[in-house]
Amino acid sequence: MKAEIFAIGTELLMGELSDTNGSWIASKLPPLGIQVDRIIGIGDDLEALTAAFKNGLGQVDFIFTTGGLGPTQDDLTREAIALAIGETATVQQEVVQKLQKYFESRGTPMPQANIKQANLVPSARFIDNPNGTAPGWWAEKYGTHIICMPGPPSEMHPMWNNEIQPKLQTLVNDEVTLTRNVKTIGMSESAIDEILDEYFGNENPYLGIYSKADGIHLRIIARASDQSSAMALIEPVESAITSRLGDYIWGYDDDTPALCVGRELIRRKMTIGIVDCCTGGFLSDNITQIPDSASFLKGSIIAPTPGFLHNLQLLNLNKELGPYLNPHFTQKVSENIIENLDTDFGIAIIGVLGPDELENTPVGQVHISISSHNQNKNVSLKLPPRRLQIKRRASNTALTELLKLIKQAN
Ligand code: AMP
Ligand code: MG
Repeated sequence: MKAEIFAIGTELLMGELSDTNGSWIASKLPPLGIQVDRIIGIGDDLEALTAAFKNGLGQVDFIFTTGGLGPTQDDLTREAIALAIGETATVQQEVVQKLQKYFESRGTPMPQANIKQANLVPSARFIDNPNGTAPGWWAEKYGTHIICMPGPPSEMHPMWNNEIQPKLQTLVNDEVTLTRNVKTIGMSESAIDEILDEYFGNENPYLGIYSKADGIHLRIIARASDQSSAMALIEPVESAITSRLGDYIWGYDDDTPALCVGRELIRRKMTIGIVDCCTGGFLSDNITQIPDSASFLKGSIIAPTPGFLHNLQLLNLNKELGPYLNPHFTQKVSENIIENLDTDFGIAIIGVLGPDELENTPVGQVHISISSHNQNKNVSLKLPPRRLQIKRRASNTALTELLKLIKQAN
């Protein structure tokens, strides 16, 4: 089965908004056996939208759209579909009443403009949207399902999960596609390519390799008539990856380094403290995305340069006056954080973000030290001189190294 995805909105074409909806929807389709032919951005332009719908009708099984369902004059998705399929939309009174109630519950009368959100053509039905005013549309014509969702991800995601995905499942149960994402760090893309050579280039199961900020990801995709046959195709490839890359694997599927660290720390009731002279809080920000992070993150010191650290009484480094950019000093800091914040693990990151070198050390040099009460792990990275990349790589490396140490802790 084939699909097209339309990301609708002029702001997408002006570079003011990145299309995250398109890739989010695309990621949900392979497991349903739906292959995406293309994702296109289209402005709020009736002619362009109508042409795009006409072009896809009868050619693909599904057209998924986001955006253009609002009440204003530039929200034209419904109008374009009506033109493309040659039908006239009429106002549905029960939806007008629903909209009126929605506004009443917020203490304001419904603006007249919103009435157009109650329009429907005979070949379409509404998709419920409890999180906003714009109901979705599911139209079917010339063998193509046109499924329209609102633009805001906070409305689109629940609509997909609660209304669209379950209905799609009943439509497309003749083939399943399963994916498994194995996430590694520490080995280069080319080294992995060589080690797993015989698994690349096959169509089913397919093995893809992707370089990401948190390492190298390996995605196995298998298609089969049912779930267990697809699993059986994935299994030997995953086993080969596990046996050949072992220690380099830090997570699977939707895991992030911070999520894995949080899960393991919570499970063991263990705690961490951080001294960060490199990522400007990026590491702590990652960790505090995890619900319940307050139960394991006891404190985080973010300093602009390592020279600041000896002023902090909490760290008890008063007598240590550099040099700072070396594994020895970094380890001293991570050991002190354990003592002074009374944690199970300490993380210290000291690095040079630039633009200028520090202590004759070039931009991109990073020292990471992870300590527990009986172990230390020091890692030094030489990264390209780009600030965001240094912050991301330093933070992800610290988290994946910490993960290894936590797993060794019992
Ligand atoms: P609309 O439904 O066209 O009124 O879109 C409303 C809002 O949804 C936009 O201002 C964006 O914040 C968000 N949005 C729309 N399209 C996208 C997209 N393709 N990716 C991410 N966010 C989007
Ligand atoms: Mg719009």
